[in-house]
Amino acid sequence: MILAMEDAFIIYLDRLSDEKEESIDFKTAPQFVNERELTFGQVDVNGKAYMAGDHLIIDLNVKASASMPCKICNEMSPFEITLNHLLITVEPKGAVYDFSEDVREALLLELPQVTECQGGECPDRVGVEKYFAKSSSSEEHFPFSALDEGDN
Ligand SMILES: [Zn+2]
Repeated sequence: MILAMEDAFIIYLDRLSDEKEESIDFKTAPQFVNERELTFGQVDVNGKAYMAGDHLIIDLNVKASASMPCKICNEMSPFEITLNHLLITVEPKGAVYDFSEDVREALLLELPQVTECQGGECPDRVGVEKYFAKSSSSEEHFPFSALDEGDN
């Protein structure tokens, strides 16, 4: 089931009375983590929610596809984040609980430090390495060295 973001991460607590479990199974394209250098595509969420005393327990598996810029060529580079048994425990106030923020935070914690496109084989990598190699030996090709030699 593909849900709109605003309907997706909602638990209706009255449905959980009598110790009934509610199963959770949806896909959505969340708007919540579109920060400047990070976009999320589809997020698959499944699991269950139930009450344990005063506490709402949500036990989830989350699979998210996301993109961040490649550290070398800056092209948006896709990757996946999987969360197995993300356990959310809250004492809910009110009739509904929106767990989008819990999922958002859990996903942000699992972000890679850096991404590189093509699974670590960025086509621009060679160019960058050449550049670094050139600049490390730059003193031999210092543009004014020829003039200095001419004065001697
Ligand atoms: Zn790249």
